[in-house]
Amino acid sequence: MAVSDHVDLDTFMAGVKKRNPGQPEFVQAVQEVAQDIYAFIDDKEEYHSAQILRRIAEPDRVVSFRVCWEDDNHNIRVQRGYRIQNNNAIGPYKGGIRFHPSVTESVLKFLAFEQTFKNSLTGLPMGGGKGGANFNPKGKSDAEVMRFCQSFMTELYRHIGPDTDVPAGDIGVGGREIGYMFGQYKRITNRWEGVLTGKGMEYGGSQMRPEATGYGAVYFMENMLKHKGEAIEGKTAVISGSGNVATHAAEQITKQGGKVLTLSDSGGFIHDPDGINQEKIDWVKDLKNNRRGRISEYADEFSGASYIEGDRPWSVACDLALPCATQNELNEAEAKALVDNGVQAVSEGANMPTTLEGVHVFHDAKIMYGPGKAANAGGVAVSGLEMSQNAERISWNHERLGEMLTELMEGIHGKCVEYGDQGDGYVDYVKGANIAGFKKVADAMLAYGVV
Ligand code: NDP
Repeated sequence: MAVSDHVDLDTFMAGVKKRNPGQPEFVQAVQEVAQDIYAFIDDKEEYHSAQILRRIAEPDRVVSFRVCWEDDNHNIRVQRGYRIQNNNAIGPYKGGIRFHPSVTESVLKFLAFEQTFKNSLTGLPMGGGKGGANFNPKGKSDAEVMRFCQSFMTELYRHIGPDTDVPAGDIGVGGREIGYMFGQYKRITNRWEGVLTGKGMEYGGSQMRPEATGYGAVYFMENMLKHKGEAIEGKTAVISGSGNVATHAAEQITKQGGKVLTLSDSGGFIHDPDGINQEKIDWVKDLKNNRRGRISEYADEFSGASYIEGDRPWSVACDLALPCATQNELNEAEAKALVDNGVQAVSEGANMPTTLEGVHVFHDAKIMYGPGKAANAGGVAVSGLEMSQNAERISWNHERLGEMLTELMEGIHGKCVEYGDQGDGYVDYVKGANIAGFKKVADAMLAYGVV
Protein backbone atom coordinates (compact mmCIF):
# COMPACT_ATOMS: atom_id res chain seq x y z
CA MET A 1 0.00 0.00 0.00
CA ALA A 2 1.25 3.47 -0.81
CA VAL A 3 2.39 5.57 2.12
CA SER A 4 -0.12 8.40 2.46
CA ASP A 5 0.98 11.99 2.65
CA HIS A 6 -0.51 13.24 5.90
CA VAL A 7 -1.28 16.81 5.05
CA ASP A 8 -1.82 18.91 8.15
CA LEU A 9 -5.13 20.65 8.93
CA ASP A 10 -4.04 24.03 7.53
CA THR A 11 -2.93 22.48 4.26
CA PHE A 12 -6.14 20.45 4.07
CA MET A 13 -8.25 23.57 4.62
CA ALA A 14 -6.20 25.56 2.11
CA GLY A 15 -7.11 22.87 -0.44
CA VAL A 16 -10.81 23.04 0.50
CA LYS A 17 -10.75 26.84 0.04
CA LYS A 18 -8.95 26.57 -3.29
CA ARG A 19 -11.33 23.98 -4.69
CA ASN A 20 -14.44 25.87 -3.52
CA PRO A 21 -13.86 29.52 -4.41
CA GLY A 22 -16.58 31.95 -3.30
CA GLN A 23 -18.21 29.37 -1.02
CA PRO A 24 -17.64 30.72 2.52
CA GLU A 25 -20.49 28.82 4.20
CA PHE A 26 -19.24 25.50 2.86
CA VAL A 27 -15.64 26.22 3.88
CA GLN A 28 -16.85 27.29 7.36
CA ALA A 29 -18.77 24.03 7.81
CA VAL A 30 -15.82 21.88 6.69
CA GLN A 31 -13.44 23.84 8.94
CA GLU A 32 -15.63 23.23 11.97
CA VAL A 33 -15.74 19.50 11.37
CA ALA A 34 -12.15 19.05 10.17
CA GLN A 35 -10.53 20.39 13.32
CA ASP A 36 -12.21 17.72 15.44
CA ILE A 37 -11.78 14.92 12.93
CA TYR A 38 -8.10 15.67 12.47
CA ALA A 39 -7.48 15.22 16.18
CA PHE A 40 -9.54 12.00 16.19
CA ILE A 41 -7.83 10.35 13.20
CA ASP A 42 -4.34 11.47 14.14
CA ASP A 43 -3.32 7.90 15.04
CA LYS A 44 -5.69 6.13 12.62
CA GLU A 45 -3.73 5.57 9.44
CA GLU A 46 -6.60 3.77 7.66
CA TYR A 47 -8.73 6.94 7.54
CA HIS A 48 -5.80 9.05 6.35
CA SER A 49 -4.63 6.72 3.63
CA ALA A 50 -8.17 6.24 2.31
CA GLN A 51 -8.58 10.06 2.21
CA ILE A 52 -11.93 9.69 3.98
CA LEU A 53 -12.37 13.30 5.13
CA ARG A 54 -11.31 14.65 1.74
CA ARG A 55 -13.91 12.37 0.12
CA ILE A 56 -16.74 13.38 2.50
CA ALA A 57 -15.93 17.04 1.81
CA GLU A 58 -16.33 16.47 -1.95
CA PRO A 59 -20.05 15.99 -2.73
CA ASP A 60 -20.90 12.84 -4.67
CA ARG A 61 -22.68 15.14 -7.08
CA VAL A 62 -23.95 18.70 -7.44
CA VAL A 63 -26.97 19.03 -9.70
CA SER A 64 -27.88 22.55 -10.79
CA PHE A 65 -30.79 23.32 -13.07
CA ARG A 66 -32.97 26.05 -14.53
CA VAL A 67 -36.50 26.45 -13.17
CA CYS A 68 -38.85 28.48 -15.39
CA TRP A 69 -42.33 29.46 -14.28
CA GLU A 70 -45.00 32.01 -15.10
CA ASP A 71 -46.23 34.50 -12.50
CA ASP A 72 -49.82 35.69 -12.17
CA ASN A 73 -49.11 38.62 -14.48
CA HIS A 74 -47.88 36.23 -17.19
CA ASN A 75 -44.26 37.26 -16.78
CA ILE A 76 -41.78 34.44 -17.36
CA ARG A 77 -39.50 34.01 -14.34
CA VAL A 78 -36.26 32.06 -14.14
CA GLN A 79 -34.79 30.60 -10.95
CA ARG A 80 -31.85 28.29 -10.24
CA GLY A 81 -32.58 24.97 -8.58
CA TYR A 82 -30.12 22.57 -6.95
CA ARG A 83 -29.81 19.15 -5.43
CA ILE A 84 -26.56 18.39 -3.64
CA GLN A 85 -26.01 14.66 -3.05
CA ASN A 86 -23.17 14.72 -0.57
CA ASN A 87 -22.70 11.16 0.62
CA ASN A 88 -24.76 7.95 0.50
CA ALA A 89 -22.40 5.59 2.32
CA ILE A 90 -24.94 4.62 4.97
CA GLY A 91 -28.27 5.11 3.17
CA PRO A 92 -30.15 7.04 0.48
CA TYR A 93 -29.39 10.76 0.34
CA LYS A 94 -31.70 12.60 2.70
CA GLY A 95 -32.09 16.30 3.47
CA GLY A 96 -34.44 19.21 3.02
CA ILE A 97 -35.29 21.57 0.20
CA ARG A 98 -34.94 25.29 0.88
CA PHE A 99 -36.71 28.05 -1.05
CA HIS A 100 -35.18 31.39 -0.10
CA PRO A 101 -33.55 34.23 -2.03
CA SER A 102 -30.30 33.62 -0.12
CA VAL A 103 -29.91 30.08 -1.51
CA THR A 104 -26.58 29.53 -3.25
CA GLU A 105 -24.50 26.47 -4.08
CA SER A 106 -22.29 27.28 -1.07
CA VAL A 107 -25.21 27.35 1.37
CA LEU A 108 -26.62 24.07 0.07
CA LYS A 109 -23.21 22.37 0.03
CA PHE A 110 -22.68 23.35 3.66
CA LEU A 111 -26.10 22.02 4.56
CA ALA A 112 -25.60 18.73 2.66
CA PHE A 113 -22.19 18.26 4.32
CA GLU A 114 -23.64 18.87 7.80
CA GLN A 115 -26.58 16.64 7.01
CA THR A 116 -24.22 13.72 6.38
CA PHE A 117 -23.01 13.82 10.00
CA LYS A 118 -26.43 14.60 11.44
CA ASN A 119 -28.11 11.69 9.68
CA SER A 120 -25.36 9.35 10.78
CA LEU A 121 -25.84 10.48 14.39
CA THR A 122 -29.51 9.49 14.35
CA GLY A 123 -28.45 5.85 13.93
CA LEU A 124 -30.88 5.48 11.00
CA PRO A 125 -29.75 4.45 7.50
CA MET A 126 -29.69 7.85 5.78
CA GLY A 127 -27.01 9.58 3.72
CA GLY A 128 -26.65 13.35 3.42
CA GLY A 129 -28.14 15.68 0.81
CA LYS A 130 -29.79 19.08 0.48
CA GLY A 131 -31.51 21.07 -2.23
CA GLY A 132 -33.41 24.20 -3.00
CA ALA A 133 -33.77 27.26 -5.15
CA ASN A 134 -33.34 31.01 -4.93
CA PHE A 135 -37.12 31.36 -5.07
CA ASN A 136 -38.93 33.50 -2.51
CA PRO A 137 -42.37 32.09 -1.68
CA LYS A 138 -43.14 35.20 0.39
CA GLY A 139 -45.75 37.41 -1.25
CA LYS A 140 -46.49 34.83 -3.97
CA SER A 141 -50.00 33.51 -4.57
CA ASP A 142 -50.77 29.84 -4.00
CA ALA A 143 -51.05 29.40 -7.77
CA GLU A 144 -47.57 30.90 -8.28
CA VAL A 145 -46.07 28.68 -5.60
CA MET A 146 -47.75 25.67 -7.22
CA ARG A 147 -46.41 26.48 -10.68
CA PHE A 148 -42.92 26.99 -9.28
CA CYS A 149 -43.01 23.72 -7.29
CA GLN A 150 -44.23 21.80 -10.33
CA SER A 151 -41.52 23.23 -12.53
CA PHE A 152 -38.88 22.52 -9.86
CA MET A 153 -40.02 18.89 -9.56
CA THR A 154 -40.15 18.44 -13.33
CA GLU A 155 -36.35 18.43 -13.25
CA LEU A 156 -35.74 17.13 -9.72
CA TYR A 157 -37.72 13.91 -10.21
CA ARG A 158 -34.91 12.45 -12.37
CA HIS A 159 -32.46 12.63 -9.50
CA ILE A 160 -34.51 11.32 -6.56
CA GLY A 161 -36.34 8.15 -5.54
CA PRO A 162 -37.30 6.25 -2.37
CA ASP A 163 -34.02 4.27 -2.46
CA THR A 164 -31.94 7.02 -4.03
CA ASP A 165 -32.62 10.41 -2.50
CA VAL A 166 -35.56 11.47 -0.34
CA PRO A 167 -35.90 15.26 0.12
CA ALA A 168 -37.94 16.98 2.84
CA GLY A 169 -38.91 20.56 3.76
CA ASP A 170 -36.69 23.34 5.10
CA ILE A 171 -36.88 27.14 5.13
CA GLY A 172 -39.69 28.24 2.80
CA VAL A 173 -40.79 24.66 2.15
CA GLY A 174 -43.64 23.53 4.39
CA GLY A 175 -46.70 21.33 3.93
CA ARG A 176 -48.06 23.36 1.01
CA GLU A 177 -44.87 23.14 -1.05
CA ILE A 178 -44.30 19.45 -0.24
CA GLY A 179 -47.88 18.74 -1.39
CA TYR A 180 -47.36 20.48 -4.73
CA MET A 181 -44.02 18.75 -5.31
CA PHE A 182 -45.27 15.29 -4.33
CA GLY A 183 -48.31 15.73 -6.59
CA GLN A 184 -46.07 16.58 -9.53
CA TYR A 185 -43.70 13.65 -8.85
CA LYS A 186 -46.67 11.29 -8.77
CA ARG A 187 -48.07 12.75 -11.98
CA ILE A 188 -44.78 12.46 -13.88
CA THR A 189 -43.78 9.00 -12.69
CA ASN A 190 -47.20 7.42 -12.10
CA ARG A 191 -45.76 6.04 -8.87
CA TRP A 192 -47.03 6.62 -5.35
CA GLU A 193 -43.94 6.11 -3.25
CA GLY A 194 -42.24 7.70 -0.27
CA VAL A 195 -40.02 10.03 -2.26
CA LEU A 196 -40.54 13.09 -0.05
CA THR A 197 -41.01 13.39 3.70
CA GLY A 198 -42.97 16.02 5.57
CA LYS A 199 -46.06 15.00 3.63
CA GLY A 200 -49.62 15.71 4.79
CA MET A 201 -51.26 13.17 7.08
CA GLU A 202 -53.78 12.32 4.34
CA TYR A 203 -51.12 11.12 1.93
CA GLY A 204 -48.39 9.28 3.77
CA GLY A 205 -47.09 11.86 6.21
CA SER A 206 -45.92 10.87 9.67
CA GLN A 207 -47.40 11.91 12.97
CA MET A 208 -44.89 14.03 14.93
CA ARG A 209 -42.98 15.17 11.81
CA PRO A 210 -44.14 18.82 12.07
CA GLU A 211 -43.17 18.94 15.74
CA ALA A 212 -40.03 16.82 15.51
CA THR A 213 -37.26 19.38 14.91
CA GLY A 214 -38.41 21.94 17.47
CA TYR A 215 -39.40 19.35 20.09
CA GLY A 216 -36.17 17.46 19.42
CA ALA A 217 -34.05 20.58 20.00
CA VAL A 218 -35.76 21.03 23.35
CA TYR A 219 -35.30 17.33 24.23
CA PHE A 220 -31.60 17.77 23.46
CA MET A 221 -31.55 20.80 25.76
CA GLU A 222 -33.36 18.75 28.40
CA ASN A 223 -30.73 15.99 28.10
CA MET A 224 -27.85 18.45 28.40
CA LEU A 225 -29.41 19.98 31.52
CA LYS A 226 -30.21 16.56 33.00
CA HIS A 227 -26.56 15.56 32.55
CA LYS A 228 -25.81 18.43 34.95
CA GLY A 229 -28.69 17.65 37.30
CA GLU A 230 -30.81 20.53 35.96
CA ALA A 231 -34.20 20.86 34.23
CA ILE A 232 -36.07 23.25 31.94
CA GLU A 233 -38.84 23.93 34.43
CA GLY A 234 -38.74 27.46 35.80
CA LYS A 235 -36.15 28.68 33.29
CA THR A 236 -36.52 31.50 30.77
CA ALA A 237 -35.79 30.91 27.08
CA VAL A 238 -34.94 33.18 24.18
CA ILE A 239 -35.87 31.76 20.77
CA SER A 240 -35.21 33.18 17.30
CA GLY A 241 -37.36 32.51 14.25
CA SER A 242 -41.11 32.06 14.10
CA GLY A 243 -41.40 29.23 11.60
CA ASN A 244 -41.85 25.50 12.00
CA VAL A 245 -38.82 24.90 14.22
CA ALA A 246 -39.16 28.00 16.42
CA THR A 247 -42.87 27.60 17.18
CA HIS A 248 -42.52 23.93 18.09
CA ALA A 249 -39.44 24.61 20.21
CA ALA A 250 -41.48 27.28 22.03
CA GLU A 251 -44.31 24.82 22.50
CA GLN A 252 -42.09 22.15 24.07
CA ILE A 253 -40.28 24.63 26.33
CA THR A 254 -43.69 25.76 27.55
CA LYS A 255 -44.88 22.16 28.05
CA GLN A 256 -41.86 21.54 30.27
CA GLY A 257 -42.59 24.55 32.45
CA GLY A 258 -40.15 27.02 30.88
CA LYS A 259 -41.03 30.59 29.89
CA VAL A 260 -40.41 31.71 26.30
CA LEU A 261 -39.58 35.42 26.02
CA THR A 262 -38.91 36.05 22.33
CA LEU A 263 -39.57 35.02 18.73
CA SER A 264 -38.30 36.70 15.56
CA ASP A 265 -38.27 36.85 11.79
CA SER A 266 -36.00 38.55 9.28
CA GLY A 267 -37.62 41.91 10.12
CA GLY A 268 -36.92 41.94 13.88
CA PHE A 269 -37.96 40.28 17.13
CA ILE A 270 -40.76 40.44 19.68
CA HIS A 271 -40.13 40.45 23.42
CA ASP A 272 -42.96 39.32 25.66
CA PRO A 273 -41.90 39.47 29.34
CA ASP A 274 -45.19 37.76 30.34
CA GLY A 275 -44.15 34.68 28.39
CA ILE A 276 -45.31 33.30 25.04
CA ASN A 277 -47.79 30.68 26.24
CA GLN A 278 -49.56 27.99 24.20
CA GLU A 279 -52.43 30.26 23.21
CA LYS A 280 -49.98 32.85 21.88
CA ILE A 281 -47.93 30.15 20.12
CA ASP A 282 -51.10 28.93 18.37
CA TRP A 283 -51.76 32.50 17.27
CA VAL A 284 -48.22 32.74 15.82
CA LYS A 285 -48.63 29.42 14.00
CA ASP A 286 -51.83 30.66 12.41
CA LEU A 287 -50.18 34.01 11.56
CA LYS A 288 -47.25 32.30 9.83
CA ASN A 289 -48.90 29.26 8.26
CA ASN A 290 -52.31 30.55 7.24
CA ARG A 291 -52.20 34.32 7.14
CA ARG A 292 -48.51 34.44 6.11
CA GLY A 293 -48.03 37.54 8.27
CA ARG A 294 -45.04 39.12 10.03
CA ILE A 295 -43.98 38.67 13.66
CA SER A 296 -44.30 42.44 14.24
CA GLU A 297 -48.09 41.90 14.32
CA TYR A 298 -47.65 40.01 17.63
CA ALA A 299 -46.94 43.26 19.49
CA ASP A 300 -50.20 44.76 18.18
CA GLU A 301 -52.15 41.70 19.32
CA PHE A 302 -50.70 41.11 22.81
CA SER A 303 -50.31 43.98 25.25
CA GLY A 304 -47.08 44.01 27.21
CA ALA A 305 -45.09 42.73 24.22
CA SER A 306 -42.76 44.96 22.23
CA TYR A 307 -41.38 44.67 18.70
CA ILE A 308 -37.74 45.56 18.12
CA GLU A 309 -37.19 46.17 14.44
CA GLY A 310 -34.00 45.18 12.65
CA ASP A 311 -32.46 43.41 15.63
CA ARG A 312 -32.00 39.87 16.94
CA PRO A 313 -33.10 38.66 20.37
CA TRP A 314 -29.75 37.69 21.92
CA SER A 315 -29.46 40.77 24.16
CA VAL A 316 -32.51 39.66 26.18
CA ALA A 317 -31.41 38.07 29.48
CA CYS A 318 -32.31 34.36 29.69
CA ASP A 319 -31.28 30.97 31.05
CA LEU A 320 -31.66 29.10 27.76
CA ALA A 321 -31.16 30.13 24.13
CA LEU A 322 -32.51 28.36 21.06
CA PRO A 323 -31.53 29.83 17.69
CA CYS A 324 -34.18 28.48 15.31
CA ALA A 325 -34.13 30.81 12.26
CA THR A 326 -31.13 30.48 9.94
CA GLN A 327 -27.34 30.16 9.56
CA ASN A 328 -24.94 32.69 11.09
CA GLU A 329 -27.64 34.52 13.06
CA LEU A 330 -25.69 34.57 16.33
CA ASN A 331 -22.24 36.16 16.19
CA GLU A 332 -19.37 36.58 18.65
CA ALA A 333 -20.69 39.80 20.23
CA GLU A 334 -24.16 38.28 20.60
CA ALA A 335 -22.71 35.11 22.15
CA LYS A 336 -20.83 37.33 24.62
CA ALA A 337 -24.04 39.19 25.46
CA LEU A 338 -25.78 35.89 26.19
CA VAL A 339 -22.92 34.71 28.40
CA ASP A 340 -22.73 38.05 30.24
CA ASN A 341 -26.47 37.80 30.90
CA GLY A 342 -26.06 34.37 32.46
CA VAL A 343 -27.18 31.93 29.75
CA GLN A 344 -26.67 28.33 30.87
CA ALA A 345 -27.37 26.30 27.74
CA VAL A 346 -27.76 26.80 23.99
CA SER A 347 -29.51 24.28 21.76
CA GLU A 348 -29.58 24.95 18.02
CA GLY A 349 -32.84 24.29 16.19
CA ALA A 350 -31.43 25.92 13.05
CA ASN A 351 -28.45 24.73 11.04
CA MET A 352 -25.14 26.47 11.91
CA PRO A 353 -26.87 29.52 13.43
CA THR A 354 -23.81 30.37 15.56
CA THR A 355 -20.66 31.65 13.86
CA LEU A 356 -17.37 29.85 14.60
CA GLU A 357 -16.30 32.81 16.78
CA GLY A 358 -19.60 32.60 18.68
CA VAL A 359 -19.07 28.88 19.30
CA HIS A 360 -15.63 29.65 20.78
CA VAL A 361 -17.26 32.10 23.20
CA PHE A 362 -19.65 29.39 24.43
CA HIS A 363 -16.87 26.83 24.76
CA ASP A 364 -14.53 29.22 26.56
CA ALA A 365 -17.30 30.08 29.04
CA LYS A 366 -18.09 26.33 29.43
CA ILE A 367 -21.70 26.89 28.43
CA MET A 368 -23.64 23.75 27.48
CA TYR A 369 -23.76 24.12 23.71
CA GLY A 370 -25.64 21.67 21.46
CA PRO A 371 -24.80 22.23 17.78
CA GLY A 372 -27.54 21.94 15.16
CA LYS A 373 -26.22 18.73 13.68
CA ALA A 374 -27.05 17.00 16.96
CA ALA A 375 -29.73 19.19 18.52
CA ASN A 376 -31.98 19.53 15.46
CA ALA A 377 -31.59 15.93 14.23
CA GLY A 378 -35.07 15.06 15.52
CA GLY A 379 -36.61 16.35 12.29
CA VAL A 380 -34.66 14.13 9.97
CA ALA A 381 -34.98 11.23 12.41
CA VAL A 382 -38.77 11.34 12.19
CA SER A 383 -38.40 11.78 8.42
CA GLY A 384 -36.47 8.50 8.50
CA LEU A 385 -39.39 6.97 10.38
CA GLU A 386 -41.77 8.40 7.76
CA MET A 387 -39.72 6.52 5.12
CA SER A 388 -40.02 3.30 7.13
CA GLN A 389 -43.78 3.72 7.49
CA ASN A 390 -44.18 4.45 3.75
CA ALA A 391 -42.10 1.41 2.82
CA GLU A 392 -44.25 -0.81 5.01
CA ARG A 393 -47.49 1.00 4.05
CA ILE A 394 -48.44 1.52 7.66
CA SER A 395 -48.69 4.48 10.02
CA TRP A 396 -47.74 4.60 13.64
CA ASN A 397 -49.63 6.73 16.12
CA HIS A 398 -48.59 10.01 17.67
CA GLU A 399 -47.76 8.52 21.03
CA ARG A 400 -45.48 5.84 19.62
CA LEU A 401 -43.63 8.33 17.43
CA GLY A 402 -43.32 10.72 20.36
CA GLU A 403 -41.62 8.01 22.38
CA MET A 404 -39.34 7.12 19.47
CA LEU A 405 -38.32 10.78 19.07
CA THR A 406 -37.57 11.09 22.78
CA GLU A 407 -35.42 7.95 22.65
CA LEU A 408 -33.63 9.03 19.48
CA MET A 409 -32.68 12.40 21.01
CA GLU A 410 -31.48 10.68 24.16
CA GLY A 411 -29.38 8.35 22.00
CA ILE A 412 -27.86 11.26 20.05
CA HIS A 413 -27.05 13.06 23.30
CA GLY A 414 -25.41 9.90 24.63
CA LYS A 415 -23.19 9.55 21.53
CA CYS A 416 -22.11 13.18 21.86
CA VAL A 417 -21.15 12.61 25.50
CA GLU A 418 -19.27 9.42 24.58
CA TYR A 419 -16.94 11.24 22.17
CA GLY A 420 -17.14 14.77 23.61
CA ASP A 421 -16.59 14.34 27.35
CA GLN A 422 -13.55 16.45 28.20
CA GLY A 423 -12.84 14.61 31.43
CA ASP A 424 -13.37 17.68 33.62
CA GLY A 425 -17.16 17.44 33.63
CA TYR A 426 -17.50 19.57 30.51
CA VAL A 427 -18.92 18.03 27.35
CA ASP A 428 -17.78 19.40 24.00
CA TYR A 429 -20.94 18.51 22.07
CA VAL A 430 -19.52 19.78 18.77
CA LYS A 431 -16.58 17.42 19.02
CA GLY A 432 -18.80 14.57 20.18
CA ALA A 433 -21.26 15.05 17.31
CA ASN A 434 -18.53 15.43 14.70
CA ILE A 435 -16.64 12.32 15.72
CA ALA A 436 -19.65 10.07 16.31
CA GLY A 437 -21.22 11.19 13.02
CA PHE A 438 -17.96 10.78 11.11
CA LYS A 439 -17.03 7.34 12.42
CA LYS A 440 -20.05 5.46 11.09
CA VAL A 441 -19.84 7.05 7.62
CA ALA A 442 -16.07 6.59 7.49
CA ASP A 443 -16.22 2.91 8.44
CA ALA A 444 -18.84 2.25 5.76
CA MET A 445 -16.65 4.02 3.20
CA LEU A 446 -13.65 1.93 4.21
CA ALA A 447 -15.73 -1.21 3.65
CA TYR A 448 -16.53 -0.15 0.08
CA GLY A 449 -12.92 0.42 -0.96
CA VAL A 450 -12.15 3.13 -3.46
CA VAL A 451 -15.52 4.15 -4.92
P1 NDP B 1 -39.42 28.25 8.26
O1 NDP B 1 -39.39 28.73 6.86
O2 NDP B 1 -40.64 27.61 8.79
O3 NDP B 1 -39.04 29.46 9.25
C1 NDP B 1 -37.84 30.14 9.12
C2 NDP B 1 -37.82 31.26 10.12
O4 NDP B 1 -36.52 31.85 10.13
C3 NDP B 1 -38.80 32.37 9.79
O5 NDP B 1 -39.25 32.97 10.96
C4 NDP B 1 -37.91 33.32 8.98
O6 NDP B 1 -38.35 34.66 8.97
C5 NDP B 1 -36.62 33.22 9.76
N1 NDP B 1 -35.50 33.60 8.89
C6 NDP B 1 -35.18 33.08 7.69
N2 NDP B 1 -34.11 33.71 7.19
C7 NDP B 1 -33.77 34.64 8.10
C8 NDP B 1 -32.75 35.62 8.17
N3 NDP B 1 -31.86 35.75 7.17
N4 NDP B 1 -32.68 36.39 9.27
C9 NDP B 1 -33.58 36.26 10.28
N5 NDP B 1 -34.57 35.35 10.26
C10 NDP B 1 -34.66 34.57 9.20
O7 NDP B 1 -38.14 27.28 8.40
P2 NDP B 1 -37.86 26.18 9.49
O8 NDP B 1 -38.41 26.59 10.80
O9 NDP B 1 -38.22 24.87 8.92
O10 NDP B 1 -36.25 26.21 9.55
C11 NDP B 1 -35.52 27.04 10.45
C12 NDP B 1 -34.10 26.52 10.60
O11 NDP B 1 -34.14 25.16 11.07
C13 NDP B 1 -33.28 26.46 9.31
O12 NDP B 1 -31.92 26.70 9.63
C14 NDP B 1 -33.44 25.01 8.86
O13 NDP B 1 -32.38 24.59 8.04
C15 NDP B 1 -33.40 24.32 10.21
N6 NDP B 1 -33.96 22.99 10.23
C16 NDP B 1 -35.27 22.76 9.89
C17 NDP B 1 -35.78 21.49 9.94
C18 NDP B 1 -37.24 21.22 9.72
O14 NDP B 1 -37.68 20.10 10.01
N7 NDP B 1 -38.02 22.17 9.25
C19 NDP B 1 -34.93 20.33 10.25
C20 NDP B 1 -33.60 20.67 10.69
C21 NDP B 1 -33.14 21.95 10.64
P3 NDP B 1 -38.91 35.29 7.60
O15 NDP B 1 -40.32 34.78 7.50
O16 NDP B 1 -38.80 36.75 7.82
O17 NDP B 1 -38.02 34.79 6.49
